[in-house]
Amino acid sequence: MRIVVVGAGVVGAGLAWRLASQGQETVLVERGRPATGTTGSSFSWYNANSKRPADYYRLNLAGMGAHIALREELGETPWYHEGGNIVWSEGEKWMDSGEIEDALEARVAELQRWEYPAKWLGVAAAEELEPNVNFGDTVEQVAYFRTEGWIDGPKLAAAMAQRAADAGAELRYAAEVVGIERSGERVSGVRLANGEIIAADLVMNCAGPWADKLAAMAGRTLPLAPTLGFVTRVSGVPEGTINRVMHAPSLHMRPDGDGLIALHHHESDAGITAGDEPSEWARKLVERFKRYVPAASDARVSRWTLATRPIPADGRTSAGLLPSLPGYGEIVTHSAITMGALLPKIVAHEIITGEADPLLANFRPDRFG
Ligand SMILES: Cc1cc2nc3c(=O)[nH]c(=O)nc-3n(C[C@H](O)[C@H](O)[C@H](O)COP(=O)(O)OP(=O)(O)OC[C@H]3O[C@@H](n4cnc5c(N)ncnc54)[C@H](O)[C@@H]3O)c2cc1C
Repeated sequence: MRIVVVGAGVVGAGLAWRLASQGQETVLVERGRPATGTTGSSFSWYNANSKRPADYYRLNLAGMGAHIALREELGETPWYHEGGNIVWSEGEKWMDSGEIEDALEARVAELQRWEYPAKWLGVAAAEELEPNVNFGDTVEQVAYFRTEGWIDGPKLAAAMAQRAADAGAELRYAAEVVGIERSGERVSGVRLANGEIIAADLVMNCAGPWADKLAAMAGRTLPLAPTLGFVTRVSGVPEGTINRVMHAPSLHMRPDGDGLIALHHHESDAGITAGDEPSEWARKLVERFKRYVPAASDARVSRWTLATRPIPADGRTSAGLLPSLPGYGEIVTHSAITMGALLPKIVAHEIITGEADPLLANFRPDRFG
């Protein structure tokens, strides 16, 4: 089979590698460079925390496991950063989608029932993990999720694209797909902005928040409910000042490698959606960071990014082939950083073997028609 994968974010690059390394003739088409879409602008926290309902939780949990399996498979995965996640924000809208609002206590209790590693730490124990963080005078306990961490998305996408090339995939960068070719009822290839047509037996739509536009080119309606997300990168903070993902009441923070810290909060996502000036929000997030981490007094904005989360309209992953449109498939989802090692692997397996993976049973593209 000749397969064209459109989009070299964490999903498409990973899919191209999985297909090419199993002998499929693969072309990865990307209008920019790898990770120039959402993957390069993500908070990139891997977790199955606050993922509901249970089937979506299990998919994300399997996503976490797949990152560990990938490390075993490749020997080293320099994009994968363990360390856990400390949370002491109580009852705010804190999940990325902003949809779930619940008290931290209820969430920890539910995750414990599901046997997810979630526990309470006294502040003294939390300070041992993060000696530079000011948890505040009123906080007695924090929640600790030891198996969570963060992924360097651009590093992962670039590594997957390189591995795809090493396995024989053709990489086409600066190549925008402007049309999807059909031959009768079948999708038969893509048309690039320069007029070139790349013929294919299968086109996989991994175009992130642009996946609806790509789907429309094939005559498919893929409703998305995208949200804007804002991440500020901060420099001027000595290495090791903070060591893991943390969710404080008014700020989400984590190390970002290369001497940077990544900051995020839903309040800024919402503010910017409402038209506030992003640079003003970047400055506010840095001020909050300095309050939580007084040792970071020289912190300053390095850069900020504004990106769109690729969320199918019902909030759930859409992954696999679409039987009603032969030659077409897609992987479109929020939390693709968490599931960036899993989805490409299992969808590639389905494509090659024709065997449906039960994990994806409730996440099929055909629910949108
Ligand atoms: C602020 C923010 C915070 C987030 N936090 C988290 C988090 O903590 N944990 C988590 O798991 N997820 C998080 N996410 C979501 C996660 O980042 C995304 O789910 C993931 O990056 C999507 O990857 P992707 O490969 O599907 O899409 P993308 O990275 O967007 O890649 C799609 C690619 O397709 C290319 N493309 C599009 N159209 C065309 C075309 N016509 N022709 C050629 N190329 C095309 C684009 O250029 C792009 O490179 C967050 C997202 C945001 C915005």
